[in-house]
Parts: sequence; structure tokens; C-alpha cells
Amino acid sequence: MSSIADNIGSVTRRIQKATLAAGRAPGSVRLLAVSKTRPPADLRQAHAVGQRAFGENYLQEALEKIEALRDLPDLEWHFIGPIQSNKTRQIAAHFHWVHSVDRLKVARRLSEQRDDTQPPLNICLQVNIDDEATKSGCRLAELPELAGAIARLPNLRLRGLMAIPDPNQADSGRRTSFRQLAQALEQLRLQLAGGAPLDTLSMGMSDDLELAIAEGATWVRVGTAVFGERSAKAP
Ligand SMILES: *Cc1c(COP(=O)(O)O)cnc(C)c1O
Repeated sequence: MSSIADNIGSVTRRIQKATLAAGRAPGSVRLLAVSKTRPPADLRQAHAVGQRAFGENYLQEALEKIEALRDLPDLEWHFIGPIQSNKTRQIAAHFHWVHSVDRLKVARRLSEQRDDTQPPLNICLQVNIDDEATKSGCRLAELPELAGAIARLPNLRLRGLMAIPDPNQADSGRRTSFRQLAQALEQLRLQLAGGAPLDTLSMGMSDDLELAIAEGATWVRVGTAVFGERSAKAP
């Protein structure tokens, strides 16, 4: 069995190779280690080899880990799961990034509940890029209005877009989905013209990070290839 440290080494090499192949600047793609269902000890192993950014899907589980890892300096917590509006207060208090905002109500609450003494909460809007019936995310057509409204909220920093393409597509289909997300970000840049940094595309996971990097990913969210297969879903 390979160790978490080895896995991070090989994922990092995959990222570097894909970044180079795409002619992009070294270091322009960051690894978000998706640690849902993993015990704090696994995150400590990742931290020991320099990993700082962790992605969590389930709030209660995440809060327990954040508490258990208080002694580690510089951890950066990213919320990447579906958000119920009664969970926003805790998310606003404990996370640095949220990748899964898909409606204005949630964004407004996050902004209101973010403490003024904290830096603004970094936000990606999640897009349901392949219009799947069961997937979270706004529709592409809703983006201009939603992004315009969110960019004006005081305690948020709208950084960009996130998507999870339909996994039942061939590589070419997934790559098209990634490209559509990148094009949507370009449109928003024109629309908001400096009103938000818009430097972020959160796309690509264990199986398809190379395709996502080829289309401009800046965060790849990787669980299995870092921590191994997940045995069971968290409650
Ligand atoms: C679980 C998860 C990932 C990581 O998936 P892997 O296939 O294990 O790399 C990435 N993004 C989101 C939103 C997830 O829920």
C-alpha cells in the first residue's frame, strides 16, 4: 500500500506534467486534498509533506476535524459540499473558501454571517455544467445575474467557478464541459470588469485532473488519488 506522502508526490507530478503540457506557468494549479471521510491522522500525514489546503463536504465531520487539528499552523479549509441554509453560520465562521455556492440566498447569509474581523470568504459559484437532474449547481444561463449580485456582497470575494462534469461521459465530453466552464469565467470577467478577482477555476478530480488542467483549472480537487479509496460514505 502506498503512503499518503507517496500519493501526494505522484499527484503533484501529474499536476506539474499537465501544467507544463498545457504551456501554463509552473505553480498555477494548486492541489486541494479532499479529505471527506478521512480521520485527522490522515490529514496530519498530508500536512507533514507540505499540504495545507483541505476540502470537506460534510459540515459536522469538518468541524470535528478543524477542532482536532487546531495545533497545525496554516491549514486552509475549503467547503465543497451541498449547502443547506441553516449551515451557513458555521461555514462562514470556520472556512477560508466555499466552492459550492449555487444560489443567492446562501451567498447573502454567508456574507452577513462572516465576521467583519475575518478576511472576506473566498467563493466559487458551482455550475451544473451538464444539466444533470440530480446535481447541485446553478445553470449556465443563471450565472450573469447570480455572479453580479454575489460580487456586490461585502464579506465575500467572488473568485470564480466550480463544476463536476457528468462522470458518465468519455474524455472528450468531459473536456468540453471543462472548456465551457472556462468560457463562462471569461464571460464573467468581461461582465464584471475588475469588480471581482475571478482568477479561479475549481475543476478536475482524481480521474480527470489532466483534462481540467488542459482547460485552465487552478484548483484540482483530489480525494482518492491522495488518500486511497474511500471505504464508506460519511453519514
Ligand atoms: C469527493 C469529491 C472530490 C474528490 O473526488 P475523487 O474522485 O476522490 O478525487 C472532488 N470534488 C468534490 C465536490 C467531491 O465531493
